[in-house]
Amino acid sequence: MKDRVLITGITGFVGSHMADYLLKKDVKVFGLKRWNLSRLRNVRHILREVELVDCDLTEPLGTYEMIRKVRPTKIFHFAAQSFISQSWNHPLLYMDVNYRGTVNLLEAVRSVGISPRILIASSVAMYGDVQKEDLPMTEKTPLNPLNPYAVSKIAQDYIGYVYHKTYGMHVLRTRAFNIEGPRRDKIFGLPWYAYQVAQIEAGSQSPIIKSGYVGAKRDFIHVYDIVEAYWLALELCKPDVYLIGSEKKKAIHTFDEAIKGLIKLSTYNGKINHEIDEIYVRPTNETVVVGDCRKFEEVTGWEPKHSFYKLLGDVLDYWRGFIREDLY
Ligand code: NDP
Repeated sequence: MKDRVLITGITGFVGSHMADYLLKKDVKVFGLKRWNLSRLRNVRHILREVELVDCDLTEPLGTYEMIRKVRPTKIFHFAAQSFISQSWNHPLLYMDVNYRGTVNLLEAVRSVGISPRILIASSVAMYGDVQKEDLPMTEKTPLNPLNPYAVSKIAQDYIGYVYHKTYGMHVLRTRAFNIEGPRRDKIFGLPWYAYQVAQIEAGSQSPIIKSGYVGAKRDFIHVYDIVEAYWLALELCKPDVYLIGSEKKKAIHTFDEAIKGLIKLSTYNGKINHEIDEIYVRPTNETVVVGDCRKFEEVTGWEPKHSFYKLLGDVLDYWRGFIREDLY
């Protein structure tokens, strides 16, 4: 029987790329969409190839009905409130979607009585600001979250562990570093800078990129690489926790370097400047986020294929197209 693969968060950034990746395999793809809110533009090119099911994960009954209908053999659980900056303003909403939504999903699977392999997309944001002497971080590094989003992701991650331990469910948790690429909303740093460069090129913005704090270092992963990692994780990993990042020095960059790289790639005929604007500065920020990801690499053999500069080019091209096609 063909695998029946459910993607929660299919209309989001990672979920929509996961769908593109899965459609090249011999599986049937299902995705959740919320009846009046979803960003369908991210999946409009595959609307005939995937089966979308209406479901808001904060609704236990609807979630149960959705699982009963789909009966997935694999679940990529990406649905979340994912924008860190807004989590200070809506801490309960983040718990509702990220924690309660996950409980509803796991409970629905349990009640329907099926045994899918489930991947929970956790995040290294859960580790917070790791001391220099504790870097690179590993799966065992203590969790010190710096924002309500990270707290909700810890709750989500650990409830997955509890359902595995208690009910023997095949739940594995991947803690990924900074995933970037086309379709990531411009409420996040890198897409926001790329969008501004594209606006400047289109003559719709004066040549100044505005940003928040740009000194933070990140391990940048191209979304094309992470979807392969997630697929391998569900195929090959046992229910456990895995850090996923590139580990390679050439993937570790500051946001400042990202801005400089985008300016270099720009076709704008003039000088583009950069300015920090207080309104974009977060109350707290993790300064350096790098890890030791050997545990995952040893099981799967995965390593990223796309460079940081390929990533910058892809993100910039996406926003150029977005503006050209007026996709707002
Ligand atoms: P997005 O914000 O782009 O996508 C979130 C998805 O969740 C959207 O499809 C959204 O649907 C859906 N969603 C939100 N609320 C609900 C709800 N109540 N019921 C059902 N669906 C809902 O996130 P990303 O794609 O960037 O991230 C995917 C996952 O990976 C998240 O769990 C995130 O925490 C995690 N992660 C992300 C990293 C990154 O760097 N991007 C790094 C590590 C982990 P709608 O279109 O209707 O709003």
